[in-house]
Formats: sequence, C-alpha cells, structure tokens
Amino acid sequence: MAVIESLAAVRERIAAAAQKVGRDPSEISVLPVSKFHSVDAMRELMEAGITLFGENRLQELADKRKQLPEARFAMIGHVQRNKVRLVVDHVAELHSLSSVRLAAALHHRLLDEGRRLPVLIQINTSDEPQKSGIAPQDAVGFARSIQDYSGLYVQGLMTMAVQSPDPDEVASCFVRLREVQADLRDQVPDLHWDELSMGMSGDFELAIEHGATMVRIGTALFGPRPTTDG
Ligand SMILES: *Cc1c(COP(=O)(O)O)cnc(C)c1O
Repeated sequence: MAVIESLAAVRERIAAAAQKVGRDPSEISVLPVSKFHSVDAMRELMEAGITLFGENRLQELADKRKQLPEARFAMIGHVQRNKVRLVVDHVAELHSLSSVRLAAALHHRLLDEGRRLPVLIQINTSDEPQKSGIAPQDAVGFARSIQDYSGLYVQGLMTMAVQSPDPDEVASCFVRLREVQADLRDQVPDLHWDELSMGMSGDFELAIEHGATMVRIGTALFGPRPTTDG
C-alpha cells in the first residue's frame, strides 16, 4: 500500500477509536515516525500535508533534514548531553526530555539564540530499566527542576507503553501517564501539560481510548523497518 493510503487508513482508525469513547478525532495528531525509512516515502507524506516527522537518532535526523529542508523534525529518542549542538541546530521539537543536565544545556544554548524549543517530558510508565524516561513518582520533582528554563517550552508528556500481548498491561501505562499529567497540572501549574504523546502502530487505538493527543506511527504508515533499532 502506498504511504498516502496508509495515512488515510490510520486516520480512519484514529477516528473510529476516538468516536468509541466520544472524543473529537481532530484532538489527535499523527506523528509519522520515519526512522530507517526513505526520504522518498517522507516526500509522499509531505505532499499530503505532513510537515513534522519523528526520528530517534540525531545523526539520521540531521542527514534527512539536509535532504528535506522544508520538513520539521521531532526527536523522540535518547539524546546524549554532548549532542546539544545537533539538537539546537536541527530539532524542531524534543519529545524525549528526561535529563535535567540536558535541559540546562539546551536552555543556555537556546537563550543565546533567542529561541524556545517545544519539549515533551518522557515518562517511563512501564518501569522497564532499559527504557529512558522519568519515573512517574519523580515527574513532579523533575518538572520543578526545569521549570525556570525558559528556553524550553514544555507542552506535555510522552511515553512508550510496555510491549505485551495483554491489553490491560499496555493500558495501565497509558493510565499512569494520565495520572502523572493530573499531578503535574496540580503541582506545577505554570507549565503546559495538555499534550499526551502515547500510542504506536501496535497500540494507538488503546492509547486514544485513554486520552492520547498524539500518536507516533512508524510501521503502520511506512511498513516494516529495514533494520531494527533494538
Ligand atoms: C520507533 C518508534 C515509534 C514507532 O513505532 P511503530 O511501532 O513502528 O509505530 C514510536 N515511538 C518511538 C519513541 C519510537 O522509537
């Protein structure tokens, strides 16, 4: 299936999932996750009006940006602190913030340039040690420690649910993200918490039923990735 047709199919599934729980589908955006996929496929989506793409490795993101200068990129993978320059130069939005030191370094560079970078804080809702993200119980403390970094424009939260055949286990990650959002709205009200990026190809309908405002879709749009990213 052409990537444009896959986008239409994903949007139909989003609408159906939203309607099931009485939500307005227009509240939910699709972030195409283009990692490992060709710029040709990305160009097709741009012709359909997509302008923002998710990538999880900075070097690939920077390379693709050179080939698609009119596209914008959201970084959704782990960022090492010595890669601040690459983020500031190439990333339009950072959806995986989980380090105070990185936040501080970004803030200072961005201030120098008079810019603000939209960010989502990544929360590790599955308690898996190999996943990055702030533990749910540390989210309020984390948010307080970065709230004065005016170079960052905090817009909400991102999570990757556990990969499990049991939908209840997957859903519990989404429920936890909502709980963290409620705590943050209550205890760190000076920042914005509306965006909830949760749900991928295998679980986005469930995420929408639990309040996702953004779903990150790779495989269901572009097909299987040529290589895996571990
Ligand atoms: C790769 C990736 C996705 C997309 O995964 P699919 O299952 O292919 O839709 C979403 N979020 C993050 C953080 C990713 O790294």
